[in-house]
Amino acid sequence: MKLHNTLTRKKEDFKPINDGEVRLYSCGPTVYDYMHIGNLRKFTFDDSLRRALSASGYKVKHVMNITDVGHLVSDSDEGEDKLEAGAAREGKSVWEIAKFYADAFKKDMLAMNILPPNGYRSKDDNYARATDFIDPQIAIVKILLDKDFAYQTKEAIYFDVAKLPSYGELTRQRLSDKEVAVRHEVITDKNKRSPQDFGLWFFATGRFINHDMRWMSPWGEGFPGWHLECSAIIHSTLGDPIDIHTGGVDNIGTHHVNEMAQTEAAFGHKLARFWLHSEHLHADDQKMAKSKANFYTLNDLAKKGFQPLALRLLFLQAHYRSQMNFTWDSLKAAAQNLSNMYAWADQIYQPSVSEEITAQDTTHLLELLISAIQDDLNTPVALGVLNRYLIKGRPTAELLDKLDFIFGLGLKSRTDITKIQKQMIADREQARKLERWDEADIIRQKLSGEGLAIDDSPQGPIWHRDHLS
Ligand code: AMP
Ligand code: ZN
Repeated sequence: MKLHNTLTRKKEDFKPINDGEVRLYSCGPTVYDYMHIGNLRKFTFDDSLRRALSASGYKVKHVMNITDVGHLVSDSDEGEDKLEAGAAREGKSVWEIAKFYADAFKKDMLAMNILPPNGYRSKDDNYARATDFIDPQIAIVKILLDKDFAYQTKEAIYFDVAKLPSYGELTRQRLSDKEVAVRHEVITDKNKRSPQDFGLWFFATGRFINHDMRWMSPWGEGFPGWHLECSAIIHSTLGDPIDIHTGGVDNIGTHHVNEMAQTEAAFGHKLARFWLHSEHLHADDQKMAKSKANFYTLNDLAKKGFQPLALRLLFLQAHYRSQMNFTWDSLKAAAQNLSNMYAWADQIYQPSVSEEITAQDTTHLLELLISAIQDDLNTPVALGVLNRYLIKGRPTAELLDKLDFIFGLGLKSRTDITKIQKQMIADREQARKLERWDEADIIRQKLSGEGLAIDDSPQGPIWHRDHLS
């Protein structure tokens, strides 16, 4: 398998450190608001990567964090705390905000058919929350202080970037260039040695006197810096160095550079072998962001009648390393494409109508798909191949199963409906033909109550799992 490594800027042959097993870590969300679909593009990328690795025969151990400790809006530790801002906006506590939006995030992940991480189990779910890893974070700060990679001021404990010669290796940016980039920021702590030094631990004092989330540390009450949680979670769950670390391209310059620095300084080895970064989703030709007015959520899509898996297909139609501009027309086209795939999948219920795809075509199709996704996750090429094979005959349940394993588009679940539900769909079709609209509507509502949504397409009724209901 070939993967593009941000560290080397090359497509490289991927081999895991331990034979047959891949340890994969993905930076997760900060839970202070609903996910916008730009965020979901990144998480869909993580999921496609995981599926591609599994489909290539690797056992994948996947960990993702949830940032439920507020971090500061600016990369240089300045500005307001996102969770505190969310709490003030909604008149709730930061803990309530974190819980509410973590739940909303998990619902979105389910709706997008994104596999839950499997390398860690919390008391509630499979996500590694920053607040559940406070002690491991404190342990790293202690090592960094002992090794003289960190220093303490009245306001915080900082990582001293000048002490680590390899600092910034990921971006190949010299410290002096970075200094220019952050020069315009107002640095409130006058004792910070350099603007690039980043907070490992902030004290609940001065501008943070009212900070709600706080824990005791050997150096005083406070809260951890944002970058620290990922180093601590990886160290405690997967063990470093890991095979692959993922994020969005906006994570590269500061968050990932700093994660790398902490681990390398504390433990004397690299954090990860491969760094993969997905490009942004834009809208109106600007990066979709919560700070701008150009973002949509799954709920906005649902209001216009689009189901989440149409969005998933839209994402897979572009390579993860290219920017993508979101338009409603492109989503509509993806929804149509998904309908066509579902109509093809549903042929398994109509054996008299079409011939079954031959074993030879099936083998060939799967070979082409695997080789496309093994080429740095080339999902657009893979989907092009799949679309060409839709006319080659009725799929088997095993083929749908395999396709779903790779793409997660809900093809397999089409074989999961019960005989009774199948009959209900046929009855509704009959009622519509006879223009008995009320009866058709009642059946549709009944099916919806069972989690099946019905759409009418030129090919006949198309149903899908109604994850949002
Ligand atoms: P955040 O909760 O802001 O940390 O974002 C969660 C993830 O979404 C990060 O990995 C970001 O890189 C990613 N992300 C944020 N905005 C976009 C966007 N417009 N397109 C794609 N990914 C994004
Ligand atoms: Zn991270």
